[in-house]
Amino acid sequence: MFHRRAAMTANPLQLTGHIAGAFVAPNGEEIPVIDPSTGRMVAVLHETSRDEVHRAVVAARSAFERGPWGRATVAERQRALMGIHDAILDHAEELAELETLNTGIPLAQTANIHVARAAQNFRFFSEFINQQEGDVYTQENGYMSLVTYDPIGVCALIGPWNMPLGLTAMKIAGALAFGNTCVVKPSEMTPLTLCRLFQILDERNILPEGVLNLVNGRGAVTGDALSSHPDIDMVSFTGGTETGARILSALARGIKGGAMELGGKSASIVYDDCDLERAVDGAMLGSFMNNGQMCLAGSRLFVHRGIADAFIEKFTERTRSLIVGDPFERTTEVGPMINTGQLERMEHYVASGLKESATLLAGGRRHGGFDAGYYFEPTVMTAPGNDLAICQEEIFAPFATFQIFDEEDEAISLANDSRFGLVGYVWTNNLERAMRNSARLQTGTVLVNTPIMRDLRTGFGGVRQSGLGREGAKGSRAMFTEMKSTVIALKPPALPKMGMTGAGENA
Ligand code: NAD
Repeated sequence: MFHRRAAMTANPLQLTGHIAGAFVAPNGEEIPVIDPSTGRMVAVLHETSRDEVHRAVVAARSAFERGPWGRATVAERQRALMGIHDAILDHAEELAELETLNTGIPLAQTANIHVARAAQNFRFFSEFINQQEGDVYTQENGYMSLVTYDPIGVCALIGPWNMPLGLTAMKIAGALAFGNTCVVKPSEMTPLTLCRLFQILDERNILPEGVLNLVNGRGAVTGDALSSHPDIDMVSFTGGTETGARILSALARGIKGGAMELGGKSASIVYDDCDLERAVDGAMLGSFMNNGQMCLAGSRLFVHRGIADAFIEKFTERTRSLIVGDPFERTTEVGPMINTGQLERMEHYVASGLKESATLLAGGRRHGGFDAGYYFEPTVMTAPGNDLAICQEEIFAPFATFQIFDEEDEAISLANDSRFGLVGYVWTNNLERAMRNSARLQTGTVLVNTPIMRDLRTGFGGVRQSGLGREGAKGSRAMFTEMKSTVIALKPPALPKMGMTGAGENA
């Protein structure tokens, strides 16, 4: 059994921000941090006030302008990034347990995916900055032009609750790699792993004071104070579309940019020429991994009529057989939802689907097998049309919908009929069709014959209301740097001498 959970429930941790190299005293507004599998409090989060957020931004600015980090060489930055990578891996088991405790995501997933990926981000960017090419142009008339990338400055990094460590680590690694300083704000619901990471980094003394700061608290208080602070240079945000829009309008007032990883309602198109077994496996992972609480869930399923009965039957049967339970049990496939709000949300969408003539095939209600915790039965509905709320709105839960199509054109236009555009999944053994679909799907990423597959060398992000900008490799460089052009006169022709001729004539 998991001892950390018992210990923390008996004696909740006191969590605070970490500013200018030290943890802040625990004196802010208290926010309970809950274990969603029991509903019990495991920590108390002391909200970082607006004044403290200001202090964090000042510390980051000072570290950027005057500290050693601003002058750090690539090799020094690489050492720091690998130091963080090693620190995460040395504490991998503990971080995975804390992530599971706070999010309810099965331990097998937090250990094998979230924490591993958090560390991998730092390794990736440490290697990436060593391979940076710049553009050099020589001009025949003796000038040379260089394009280089300067750090952007103080970055505000704001993360969501559904993959707190992995997604925010991506931002931290990218921002530090390119020489920036940061103020990080995790979700007030899931701050455990990032707070612990700051403690671990403190013990190892990896970064100079003020380079990496942590603020904690609600979006409307701490988040707003950070994203609207006049002295930040950009915001890298992952979260809901409406919050992203609010942050963008604050940034617009200062003519600043933001990179936005927002909501999704991704389509999976399953053609009759696919490997059916693999497509069912992939669609299950795409709908129910991470407890279904994934921005890139491919849970809006379109199946060709020729295989619809077989596919939907297999998928539904397997959904009913999913092992829902304590996320610390190794056999658990789906854990609890993050909070009661998510349970109400699922109930709302089941009722809305039924009202709009959808058919419930599996789940549809709170799970009866638990005394406590926020458990819901993984849910499947077939929808008679694409305009239903369950097909258009992001449910962010283990909730899949089916629609049936006959023609490829119909599938593409159904998939594109969405305000979101994060990922398009295509299941087919016809390569030509796969490439045709990839060209026509209006999404930031297309995945063919695979569920979630992240290659950090490529950019990840959304079109339409799923976001702005891309994370990964050059996408992160675009986000965290300013492109600079330098033109140098090497052996140029003589310059025209302004003022020489006229001066003589006027005299
Ligand atoms: P959210 O928008 O409610 O909150 C995200 C973060 O923003 C939290 O830290 C929150 O405290 C903060 N915040 C809220 N209001 C703010 C404000 N006014 N100013 C500054 N910060 C503010 O999102 P959530 O519920 O935590 O996350 C779920 C959403 O995130 C879903 O829509 C999901 O699709 C999206 N998401 C997207 C990606 C992606 O890569 N595109 C990845 C994961 C999650």
